[in-house]
Amino acid sequence: MLQTINRIGGLLWINLANTVRMQEKSRTDRLLDPPSLLEWLRDNELPDSVRELPLEQLRKELTALRELCDRVLEDLARHGKLSEPTYDALQVRAEKLIVGVKLTMTGEGPDLEYTGRSGSEALSLLVLRSIADTLRTVPAERIRKCEHEDCILRFADISKGGRRRWCSMETCGNRHKAAEFYAKKKQQAEG
Ligand SMILES: [Zn+2]
Repeated sequence: MLQTINRIGGLLWINLANTVRMQEKSRTDRLLDPPSLLEWLRDNELPDSVRELPLEQLRKELTALRELCDRVLEDLARHGKLSEPTYDALQVRAEKLIVGVKLTMTGEGPDLEYTGRSGSEALSLLVLRSIADTLRTVPAERIRKCEHEDCILRFADISKGGRRRWCSMETCGNRHKAAEFYAKKKQQAEG
C-alpha cells in the first residue's frame, strides 16, 4: 500500500482530518496550498469526478467535510461514541445526497455501484461512507492521536495487538526514541 503522510490515518475521513497538521511547531492547513490539496486527492485515490471539480469549490467542500470529521473524532475521544448533535449533522448531509446507481461487471459477476450524481456528491458520499463504516466496525479506542507531543495526527489502529502509538515509526516514533536517548544521556552526565 502507498505509504504517504496523506494516508497515515488509514481511513479516508481520518486522512481528511489529518490535512491540518503541525509543521515547524505551528498548525498548517494543507488544503490552503493547491499542490498539497491535489496531492491529497491523488494519494487518497478519489475518483476523477471529484478531482475535476474547480479548486475553490473543492477546498470549500473538503473544509466543510473536515469539520464533520473533526467533530466525530472529538466525540470518539471524549465519549467513545457519536454524540447526538454530530449524528444530526451527519444526517443532514446524508439526506441531501443524490446518489446514482450503476450496474457494473466484475470478475465474479454483476454488481451495483453507488456514486454521487456530481463530483461534490461523490466526495460527500465517500467521506460519509468512510465515517459510517468506521463507526460500525472499528472500536472507538482504536481511533487515536499520535502520542508524540508535537504531533496532532490521528490514525485508526488496525494492528493485531492494537498497540500502535505513532502516526509513523519513521517520523514520530524515532523522534521520540531519540529524545528519550538524549534525556537518558543527559541524566547520566548530570548524575
Ligand atoms: Zn505523529
